[in-house]
Parts: sequence; structure tokens; C-alpha cells
Amino acid sequence: MRMVEVKSTTSIKDYHLMDAAIQSWVAKQAMLPLNKVEIAYIDNSFIYPGDGMYQGLFHFADVSEQIADLQDDVPGWINAARASLSGGEPCVATGPQCHTPFKCPFLSFCSPSVESDDGFPPEILPYGAALSAKLRKEGYNDLRDVPADRLDNLRHQLVWRVSKSGQSELDPEAGRLLAALPYPRYYLDFETISLAVPVWTGTRPYMQVPFQWSCHIETAKGVMTHSEFLADGRGDPRQNFAESLIDAIGTNGPIFAYNAPFERSRMQELADHFPILSRALEDAIDRIVDLLPIAREYYYHPAMRGSWSIKAVLPTIAPDLAYDDLEVGNGDMAQQAFAEIMEIKTSPERRQKLKGALLSYCERDTLAMVRIAHYFEDNES
Ligand code: SF4
Repeated sequence: MRMVEVKSTTSIKDYHLMDAAIQSWVAKQAMLPLNKVEIAYIDNSFIYPGDGMYQGLFHFADVSEQIADLQDDVPGWINAARASLSGGEPCVATGPQCHTPFKCPFLSFCSPSVESDDGFPPEILPYGAALSAKLRKEGYNDLRDVPADRLDNLRHQLVWRVSKSGQSELDPEAGRLLAALPYPRYYLDFETISLAVPVWTGTRPYMQVPFQWSCHIETAKGVMTHSEFLADGRGDPRQNFAESLIDAIGTNGPIFAYNAPFERSRMQELADHFPILSRALEDAIDRIVDLLPIAREYYYHPAMRGSWSIKAVLPTIAPDLAYDDLEVGNGDMAQQAFAEIMEIKTSPERRQKLKGALLSYCERDTLAMVRIAHYFEDNES
């Protein structure tokens, strides 16, 4: 008998072997005659040819030997798990186990200062995991207590300085850069869906397929119109997405995005897939201006707590534009909403509601960019 443990990842992880070892141990205790154990994982070079032809979607790896080596350990794991369940709260310090292989759902309980929005733990230092672990070991639980000479990275110094002073810093150079750009200006954001099992011909597993865009168009300082597109969820959204986008973004003027490699990559993929649209899309790619590196280089507020994501920056500049009044409030929720729109059993009323929520969310993202750009520009001197 052959047992296959199916995983949605694109490679085998160590914990998959432990999963398969437990499954096969259980099967053997139930007297099932297993003679082969495999792990199936997704081949992300697979391109869906359509018509339900999914042969080749999975790689199958024979892990029988590795599993056999783990069989003797399984009873010990089970006993340890039983002991944890029946005992009191274990006294264990936080460490790498809290994030590997997944983020532990108890992190906010075990390490409240890292997870809450309060305080300035060393972990807010961007890309500073090793340094913050060292600082913690030395007894520094608040970044503001760390001596200045312990931080030699300029961004770490900025985070430390602003956390200590409680005052945001904005270099007028950000405004000068923006003021030099012409009108019309376009503020653009995409939403995409990434499916483990591709459903549209020519798409790959986990490919980011764009289904929605929002664009604020500024023809002179503060003079705005808004355009948007949202696929109906009934078929491959890419062609309508690309054609409507090209109509909206014209042929000249900067196109702002926040973390632009994402938008650039999607536009390049569309250009590659639709040769007839490639010229217009590639011309538009050349006009993209990324607001994220400008923010990262020239702006920081203590409430950002080491993050320059648009959702960290926006409340410090435009608190009236929070996302908490929206039914869809982040990219993951947007994907889930679109997946529900695609679902044939979703009622027309529910579909309409989800569409409204998606449109509000994506529009909020591009309005956020407008407000951030204006804030920088208004403080250019
Ligand atoms: S966060 Fe989770 S893994 Fe980390 S110490 Fe607490 S319970 Fe253990």
C-alpha cells in the first residue's frame, strides 16, 4: 500500500517528514500494510494547459527511507505532546522556535512588547533579528535604552533616534524629489490572486494573477479623478485588466506605486503574455516611480515601529484614512474576497457586497499614496 502526504508547498520541508512519519506510524498501528510513503508537493514550473489537465502539477518524492529512520521517535513525540496537554503552562523563553516553521499563535502572550503596538522592543530594528537577539541577551528590552554606539546601520540609528525623541523626522529632500515631477500624475495599485492550483489556461501555481486596479489621477496639484477596474470573477481577468489599465494611465506622466517591483512585475508578465499590449505596458513600466524607497530614505515616525509599509506610514500622516472601517482591509482579505466572488455558489447579493468592499479597499490604497506624496511635497523646505 502506498501513502501520499500532499503538501501545498513547492519544496519538501523538514517538518513534512515529521508529519509523514506520524501519519505512517498511525497507519501502521492500524495494521495498514504500508510499503511506500511519498510526499507530493507542487511543481511551480507547471503551466496549466486547460481542460482539467493537471498531470504534472505535483512532484512525488519517495521518502520511505527517511520516514523509517524517524519511526522510533514518534512515540516520544506523542508522549511529549500528551504531557504538554495535561500539564500546566510550560515555562519556556521565546526564541527561534516561535517563528519556525510557523509563527506561533501565542507570541502576543509570551512576548507582548514585540507583538503589541506599544513600546519600542529591539525587534523593531528593520532586518535586525540577530542584533535584537543579542541586545535582548544583554538585558536590553527597550530600544531606547541601547547606547548609540551599538547601532552602526544608518536606518537602525534613525529608528533608535526617533524612538528616543518621540519626534518624527522628514528630510525635505523627499518633497524636492516629488516637486520636480510633472503632471498628470497617476497613483496606481493592483490586487492579485495567487492560487496553488491554477484555474486559468497559461497560468502557473502561485502565480500572482492581477484582478483589480485602482488609479487616482492628478492633473494639477490637488485636482483629482479616480478610475478603477475589478474583474467579474467569471474567467481569466488578465486581458480586461490590462486593456482597461492602458486606457486609464495615458501615455505620459509619472505613475506612482508603493513597493513598485510588485506592480512592475505584474505589468511585465502581462506584456509578455499579450504581445499586442506589450509596447503600451512596457512604456508605462518606464514611468513608474516608487514611493516606498523615498519614504524609507527620508521619513520615519515613532509609531511606524520599524516598518515602512503603507499601512504603517499612512496613520502617521493621514490618521483619518485608517483601514479599520473597511470590510476588506489588507491584501490577504482581498484575495479571499475575490476567491469568494469566483465561487459559483456565491449569491449575487454577497458578490455585490464583496465587490463594493474590494473597490473601497483598493481606492483607499491609492488615496493613501496621494496623501503620502502630498505630505512629503508640502514639507519640501
Ligand atoms: S510563542 Fe509559542 S513557541 Fe514561543 S515560547 Fe511562547 S508558546 Fe512557545
